[in-house]
Amino acid sequence: THFGFRTVSKAEKAGMVAEVFHSVAAKYDLMNDLMSFGIHRIWKRFAIDCSGVRRGQRVLDLAGGTGDLAARFSRMVGEQGEVVLADINGSMLKMGREKLRNQGVVGNINYVQANAEALPFPENYFDCITISFGLRNVTDKDKALRSMFRVLKPGGRLLVLEFSTPLIDVLNKAYDAYSFHVLPRIGEVVAHDAESYRYLAESIRMHPDQETLKAMMEDAGFENVGYYNMTGGIVALHRGYKF
Ligand code: SAM
Repeated sequence: THFGFRTVSKAEKAGMVAEVFHSVAAKYDLMNDLMSFGIHRIWKRFAIDCSGVRRGQRVLDLAGGTGDLAARFSRMVGEQGEVVLADINGSMLKMGREKLRNQGVVGNINYVQANAEALPFPENYFDCITISFGLRNVTDKDKALRSMFRVLKPGGRLLVLEFSTPLIDVLNKAYDAYSFHVLPRIGEVVAHDAESYRYLAESIRMHPDQETLKAMMEDAGFENVGYYNMTGGIVALHRGYKF
């Protein structure tokens, strides 16, 4: 596979990620439902419930893609609030904007093409930042976490929803088999793109585990960092505060 485990440079990784998401954008929502048996909706719902977002607040849905979280936040913050859906990838951002407009989500939402590593927002701006299934694709995760910390208000919180390390070995093995053998097949049949889904499986395997990500968030300045395992640790929700 051209996305194999060999060491790749930062520029190469960024290029691969761009290629993958340009390629999967049109089929992204359908694939999410198929690959997770619809469970991604429950994971996202839980993240939204833990966000504490209220009317009038400013929320950044980073690596927001097709906007599942941003759409909910737009309703939660109301007219006085503001939601920014930011993504590095023009194709994903376009899909997100079209989908949300069709759902009638307008008025308090803006779309910004931006790299998580260098967020183009003022310091202390957002009450809440979410990054859902996005951090593992970011090349320099420490830099991205520092950038999120900078644009968050004191008292604000970051929620990272991401694939993580399953808690029990049997589940880990079954999950590996599923993601390396079944996912690329689904990708091939539905999106005519096995390679991109092989990359996704590899990026999941290489992502830092629960404790490592917690330590990375603390290093970036976040406090009271904790996490919740979901579906046996296949996914974890990390939350940290800026005080
Ligand atoms: N948040 C959405 C969700 O939960 O369905 C989309 C997740 S999708 C798997 C990952 C997204 O991360 C893609 O839209 C991709 O373009 C974006 N992404 C990858 N690297 C990024 C970066 N450095 N900065 C911002 N977004 C990035």
